[in-house]
Amino acid sequence: MNIHEYQAKELLAAYGAPVPKGILALTAEQAQEAARALGGACVLKAQAHCGGRGKAGGVKFASSPEEAYELAKNMIGMKLVTKQTGEKGKTVRKLYVTEPVSHGAEYYLALTTDFSSARPVFIACAEGGTEIEELFEKSPEKVARVPFGAELGLKDYTVRALAAFLGVRAENYKEFSALLYAMYKLYTDKNCSLIEINPLALTDGGALTALDAKITFDDNALFRHPEVAVLRDEAEEDPKEVEAEKYGLSYIALDGNIGCLVNGAGLAMATMDILSAFGGRPANFLDVGGSAGEEKVAAAFGILLSDENVRAIMVNIFGGIMKCDVIAAGILEAAEKTGLRVPVVVRLEGTNVERGKEILRASGLKLISASDMADAARKCVELTKAGETA
Ligand code: GDP
Ligand code: MN
Repeated sequence: MNIHEYQAKELLAAYGAPVPKGILALTAEQAQEAARALGGACVLKAQAHCGGRGKAGGVKFASSPEEAYELAKNMIGMKLVTKQTGEKGKTVRKLYVTEPVSHGAEYYLALTTDFSSARPVFIACAEGGTEIEELFEKSPEKVARVPFGAELGLKDYTVRALAAFLGVRAENYKEFSALLYAMYKLYTDKNCSLIEINPLALTDGGALTALDAKITFDDNALFRHPEVAVLRDEAEEDPKEVEAEKYGLSYIALDGNIGCLVNGAGLAMATMDILSAFGGRPANFLDVGGSAGEEKVAAAFGILLSDENVRAIMVNIFGGIMKCDVIAAGILEAAEKTGLRVPVVVRLEGTNVERGKEILRASGLKLISASDMADAARKCVELTKAGETA
């Protein structure tokens, strides 16, 4: 789960990390009011779950409350198109109005989990800021990755190594150290999977402060932290993913046009691979799970149909624990509810396959049956390609 910058900064501040003062605004009037409270000049920051806001016009500087009002009027409701959002962009619903900070150096500092060594790792770079992604790619030698012992926790030698790498001045060492310990405590307390501060700025007054912050939490640990779970902003998430979660479906929206209904994560991955191999583009990853009932299958099917990019659906089921007749009944239920607006290619195999096929045959639905997985993928790709040229 992701949260907004203002929430991340509030959490960091609660753990003693230095962040600039800020006030959340939902309207231009509130932004003006916030600017006044901060002393007039301020930074207006679009709150949307995506990086790269600065480059996309999502970070603006105002020198007076009146200017803040004018800028905010344009920013609220704007579509923020960044590298991370794709063409669709993200609608800005909230602004974070922060005190302006004049600063010199911008560092990149993140704490995440290093899966290869199964330890937490600090990632640091002395040249942080909006070009960081290019820098990661082009100059990896400028980026330090310092994993440290999870059992020992964070120790001073790790802090010193990072400070030396970044060139943190002696007079900033104490606050730098306090910041790393604060990040580590927050990371472990709340089961974060990422805390990223970019940039961490050295202000003209000589202090360190987090100008931007991003925190991601491990979804599987959210049940432990109701105070974190309430920070969720569903408006930022794909509504199809939110709906899928209600039914306990493992669903991830993608940007292709072939909807996939599959049981088992491995088969779902294989389905996406084989579609790609035939030149198709999956619209989603969807694993209905091994023990799904009719209702869950119908919900899954409904979610696929609600995606307006979907031009064809590939049902790829290998019935082990899952029974093919349950899948068939689920498809039927969804078709009765919403109608099938796109062609559906079905590949069924395994437990109760004959009964499943019989249900689909008797339904009178116009389904396209496939002899195997490759056949199903090929048919889906042909169907979508035909649609594209028509
Ligand atoms: P991002 O582009 O989504 O990562 O948004 P950031 O919050 O990181 O802002 C982008 C850039 O704007 C930062 O790298 C800073 O250089 C600059 N910036 C953000 N906040 C402030 C601020 O309070 N004062 C100044 N001078 N620059 C800021
Ligand atoms: Mn940033």
